[in-house]
Amino acid sequence: MRIILLGAPGTGKGTQSQLIEKKYNIPQISTGDILRDNIYSKTTIGNKIKEIIEKGKLISDDIVCHVIKTRIQKKDCINGFLLDGFPRTQKQAFYLSNNNIKIDCVIELTASYKSILHRISGRRVHVQSGRIYHIQFNPPKIFGKDDITGQPLIKRKDDRKESVKKRLREYFKTTYPLIQHYLHEEKIGKIKFFRINGDESTSVINKKIELILNKIIL
Ligand code: AMP
Repeated sequence: MRIILLGAPGTGKGTQSQLIEKKYNIPQISTGDILRDNIYSKTTIGNKIKEIIEKGKLISDDIVCHVIKTRIQKKDCINGFLLDGFPRTQKQAFYLSNNNIKIDCVIELTASYKSILHRISGRRVHVQSGRIYHIQFNPPKIFGKDDITGQPLIKRKDDRKESVKKRLREYFKTTYPLIQHYLHEEKIGKIKFFRINGDESTSVINKKIELILNKIIL
């Protein structure tokens, strides 16, 4: 099963992806997590992209397509994967189709500006694993520490209000048009497309996603 989760920053893609990964045993591939890990480990790519990410701008298509190419060649993707944060541009979407990377299902999460800001302002992450917490909705067992490793959690620099506004503008300008692209693909029977209201609670959204995915598996 190959799934794309689409949606603006803060609509809950990361949180839902991690739940889907556990339940269906397919890896969550978050380009954002991979890029942040590169920054943390100070790789060549990481040093190149640090400032761009912190400012809330998009990384070049060439870099992210390379990241995806390398990641989906790994063994754990044999039964499928879930793309979280990719594609974000037309070029990235065409990268998938031009390379015969067939997608079964696209799920779009929508959310109001108010809940996006609320989610992002309380978000904390464990960079090394990509695990996501929220100080109110999903707090860690020990304040400021990852539940599994005990390592510190961070507030992403691009989660500051100014960067969030930029990321939202970028989303509606560059990524949102992909919805039309996938609606067209659905019309011609290439994929299945679903839209879910991401303003609801994590568990309600998750139940809705599971209903969709269970039908696709059957
Ligand atoms: P995310 O964790 O998905 O919110 O992504 C964080 C940041 O990583 C984005 O604001 C971009 O700077 C960069 N990024 C992640 N995925 C992509 C992508 N598919 N294309 C371009 N930039 C990306």
